[in-house]
Amino acid sequence: METTRRGFVAQSAGLAAAAGVAQEEPRAAEADWYDRPMRWAQLAFVEDDPGNYDPKFWLDYFRRIHADGACLSAGGCVAFYPTQIPMHYRSRWLGASDPFGDMAHGCRAMGMNVIARTDPHAVHRDIVDAHPDWIAVDAKGNQRRHESDADFWITCALGPYNFEFMTTVTEEIVRRYDVDGIFTNRWAGSGMCYCEHCRENFRAFSGLDLPRTNDPRDAARRQYIVWREQRLFELWRLWDARIKAIRPKAAYIANAGGGALSGLDMKTIGELAPTLFADRQARRGLMPPWANGKNGKEYRAALGRKAIVGIFSVGLEEEYRWKDSVQNGDEIRLWVADGIAQGLRPWFVKFNAKPIDRRWLPVVERMYVWHHANESYLRNERPLARVGMVYSQQTAEFHGGERARELVEDEALGFYQALIEARIPFEMVHDRLLDEAHLAAFRTLILPNIAALSEAQCGQIREFVARGGSVVASYETSLYDEWGEARRDFGLAELWGATFDGRREGPMRNSYLTLEKDPATGRYHPLLGGIEDATRIINGVHRVGVTLTGEGRAWPLTVVPTYPDLPMEEVFPRPAPRREAGVALREVGRGRVVYFPWDIGRTFWEVLDVDHGRLLANAVRWATNEAAPVTVEGAGVLDVSVWEQKNSMTVHLVNLTNPMMMKGPVRQVIAVPGQRVRVRVPAARKVSGARLLVAGRAAAYREERGVVEIETPAIGVHEVVALDFGRS
Ligand SMILES: [Zn+2]
Repeated sequence: METTRRGFVAQSAGLAAAAGVAQEEPRAAEADWYDRPMRWAQLAFVEDDPGNYDPKFWLDYFRRIHADGACLSAGGCVAFYPTQIPMHYRSRWLGASDPFGDMAHGCRAMGMNVIARTDPHAVHRDIVDAHPDWIAVDAKGNQRRHESDADFWITCALGPYNFEFMTTVTEEIVRRYDVDGIFTNRWAGSGMCYCEHCRENFRAFSGLDLPRTNDPRDAARRQYIVWREQRLFELWRLWDARIKAIRPKAAYIANAGGGALSGLDMKTIGELAPTLFADRQARRGLMPPWANGKNGKEYRAALGRKAIVGIFSVGLEEEYRWKDSVQNGDEIRLWVADGIAQGLRPWFVKFNAKPIDRRWLPVVERMYVWHHANESYLRNERPLARVGMVYSQQTAEFHGGERARELVEDEALGFYQALIEARIPFEMVHDRLLDEAHLAAFRTLILPNIAALSEAQCGQIREFVARGGSVVASYETSLYDEWGEARRDFGLAELWGATFDGRREGPMRNSYLTLEKDPATGRYHPLLGGIEDATRIINGVHRVGVTLTGEGRAWPLTVVPTYPDLPMEEVFPRPAPRREAGVALREVGRGRVVYFPWDIGRTFWEVLDVDHGRLLANAVRWATNEAAPVTVEGAGVLDVSVWEQKNSMTVHLVNLTNPMMMKGPVRQVIAVPGQRVRVRVPAARKVSGARLLVAGRAAAYREERGVVEIETPAIGVHEVVALDFGRS
């Protein structure tokens, strides 16, 4: 083994020298290496790469782009090193070579952190024959063949293939190579598995047969959600422990995590993962570019200050999976810029080490070189946003079920788009992390149809308001418990100042909301700012019936019930049977509560009506009731974030004002005109200078009573206003 290892080092040192790299001692892995790398490079080998690709080319590229972390394919489906494990399938092109080892040592020689990638989701026929019980089984009892490649079968993620075989593979890689960790792709299974192990283990856990439905009201389905998650976390802990037994400073890092629709509890992931890689490679279908920043916020909600890396693809990531394609440069830049603005460290992934279309190479190089030059301004300590939007995997799993996207995610996406348009910086918040410490940074909490909440979670939200916090909530928030069981009344009825009267209505057509003046003052409430001349605006599509019980404040909006939209002769409103509020407003101590008993976020996401956007922004501003950390004035649509670093603060402005904003690929970058940025400087900090990091120059600024004002030049994709702090 020792001889072999020295052989690797000699060979990789040669490669590094050929790539013009300064010779350094390979870095020993450090306990806290996780926060060190800022820019990652991933080379995902394909089976015919060994002997056919140019390692020198890649090491040279990694050096030129200042990549300081590398992820390299090692084993699982296909081994790219001379594995000694029986039935661990070696690349047919491997011969006597060791492409993983060569690249790993070459990267180490350049001082990079190195992670080995494994993929356990598929195996060849010999394993099917030797261990039929390692293979995933469909609902009809058949072993599952791979849909994309008929030479492969799908493995069961929850049985001995992962727990035993892949554990051995993991140990071999970590024992043989100086790696900082193992990153596993497609480790969590490919849908339901009905193999003998899954059947037995699930029965032992729950006393039930595996569910045959996705309906979360089914007892077996509920138990399955809990069991699968428990089993995967068991696997995570097993692999991490085995890795640490060999290399105490290395870790297992799963490809896992996400927002409300992701399947593994983010709170637990946040506890287990020392760092995490958000695998959201590009846009597909209808998707705004801010979706990448949203990933950053969702991961951050659970991981806090830990480094979070955003994996982006340089190819097209549409359904048809053109894996050797190259996306246009502006689309890559826009996607990555929004991730960086929201705290993601960039990580490019390239499948196939023999690049065919090379147009992406200078695009990534330019971004990474810029990132490297401005690194100190991108090492964020904390976001300064005062608004937090809650996301709830629990609501998606146990209330939404198969309709989770429509019932849960779309409501959040509407709020998200409205806050982008309003240029209000905000964070995401995990619903299992609503304790005082996690909410301390926030003035306002948004609950976009967070329907399923336990008593304890409702209690935490009440306490947040009691401490002076504000809440903006919608539709069925708190109307179900944590298992998705309906309550008689909202868990937060007292906070809303409204009780549920048992009625659910929708989909509604042709329903409206009338704007009402406050009879005491004769004026419209600030909630209606910018739409006072409307008389009435459109209603949402679904609503719950409520009776207001609060302090009897005037209602700024009242419901015009749905009335015929055909025949045209009949299109006139009928007298309403009762007067009903379209919104409930309360002031509670220093806090304020806005509750919309309808699907304002989902409707906005579907219809994008300007009035609903204003209403959402006004609700958040009225509830927040304090000077914003940053305001940005000027034309265009921008994603705005505000951060503090050790000796500086930054405001990111990502220009989303482009053709194809809602769907990639973007056609052209149209610069927005200069913006007037006003930044509130944190107490005890003193500004000593200002820079524009993309324009690459110092900026003139005015400072008055802790607020710095700067005019930016026109913005293409991205600008970063950076304020340096001097000694105060
Ligand atoms: Zn199974």
